[in-house]
Amino acid sequence: MTFKTFIGLEIHIELKTKAKMFCRCAADYFGHEPNTHVCPVCLGLPGALPVPNKKAIELTIMVGQALNCQINSFSKFDRKNYFYPDLPKGYQISQYDLPFCKNGEFLNVKITRTHLEEDTAKLTHLRLDGKEVSLIDFNRSGVPLLEIVTEPDIKSSKQAKGFLKKLAQTVRYLNVSDCNMEKGSMRLEVNISLGKDRLPDYKVELKNLNSFRFAEKAIDYEIKRQRETLEKGEKPIQETRGWDEKRQRTFSQRTKEEAQDYRYFPEPDIPPIRLNEKEVTEIKNSLPELPEEKKQRFIKVYRLSEYNASLLTENIKTANFFEGSASLAQKEGIETSKIANILNNRKINISKISTGKFVKDILDEKNKVQIKDQDLDKIIKKVLENNQEVVKEIKKGKEIAIEFLVGQVMKETKGQVDPNHARSILREKIKSA
Ligand code: ZN
Ligand code: MN
Repeated sequence: MTFKTFIGLEIHIELKTKAKMFCRCAADYFGHEPNTHVCPVCLGLPGALPVPNKKAIELTIMVGQALNCQINSFSKFDRKNYFYPDLPKGYQISQYDLPFCKNGEFLNVKITRTHLEEDTAKLTHLRLDGKEVSLIDFNRSGVPLLEIVTEPDIKSSKQAKGFLKKLAQTVRYLNVSDCNMEKGSMRLEVNISLGKDRLPDYKVELKNLNSFRFAEKAIDYEIKRQRETLEKGEKPIQETRGWDEKRQRTFSQRTKEEAQDYRYFPEPDIPPIRLNEKEVTEIKNSLPELPEEKKQRFIKVYRLSEYNASLLTENIKTANFFEGSASLAQKEGIETSKIANILNNRKINISKISTGKFVKDILDEKNKVQIKDQDLDKIIKKVLENNQEVVKEIKKGKEIAIEFLVGQVMKETKGQVDPNHARSILREKIKSA
């Protein structure tokens, strides 16, 4: 039997703001002493009042615009009620029916919504003095968190991975988040179900996917598992499953609660947010050139191959280094395609070299090659004639003396020849003399 695969993604991304979402605590919690970036607001103490971070709202709208979303001119925050130790208030401030951004499209996948919420505290489960304990670090509590939800438009693990990679690349271009899966600044949930021809009335949610590769493997495993269940005439259970990397399979974690279980209602402590057209346009105009546009421009302006342009626009740093070098190289008459090839083929550590030095090295190399073999032959002949005593010694076996001759050749060519090349020609000549 053949089935269609329906995959939807829910992606959480921590925003790179200075302060947290609803208080003034520093948002860069990673690697800091637990519970040092906290205050009554992000600890969820009764009576503490949240004040929304304007910058986080702007960054959310930037991402929404990059994903071709409509921006709601009127939106609000809502309380999502649930009980878990990482959430001391008993609710998360999120957005429900009026998110900042909705109805977008990115790489032919429809974006349902892009909304803003607060991150929860971080739980660490471990054994302490022989007891199982859970430690809570509130440094992460209240960090601005972007949630991007797609429609179930994705058909394969490969497409999902490609989508996620491009999304992370775009968000990094916007300088909104570093999207680091290992550090948890980007987290994934995958909804997956199989149907005869249309979306079925169940879905399995995959969690604990700590890398794109795990996501890919978990999706492939689920497609196979759900197909086998359906072929037996059964319906897969609606549930949340995790990925077990050791056993290379998904496993049941819990049956899924319905949306109404969260009893969403408007956050009474934060007034609704109105955005006028001017503000939205200003944010739109502040968007940098995005990866695909940059790639197309590189192809057109610098006459690069699609392959070279893709590699060079993978991140902004490399793209900027290339452009900086290319403008210097053009003045020296070096082709930009040559710059592109060298950057992509040799492992140039761009954080350790300036564009000026990089281009100068290429120029020096070019000049060295320009000493024609004929000229080099003449110079070597002259060096051998002028140093016949040395040649005799080498012939007697004093090999090391050849270095003197190499030195003479370097001097005569003003260092514009590769010493290894000069040495091998010298050896040949002495042998055949
Ligand atoms: Zn705080
Ligand atoms: Mn969420």
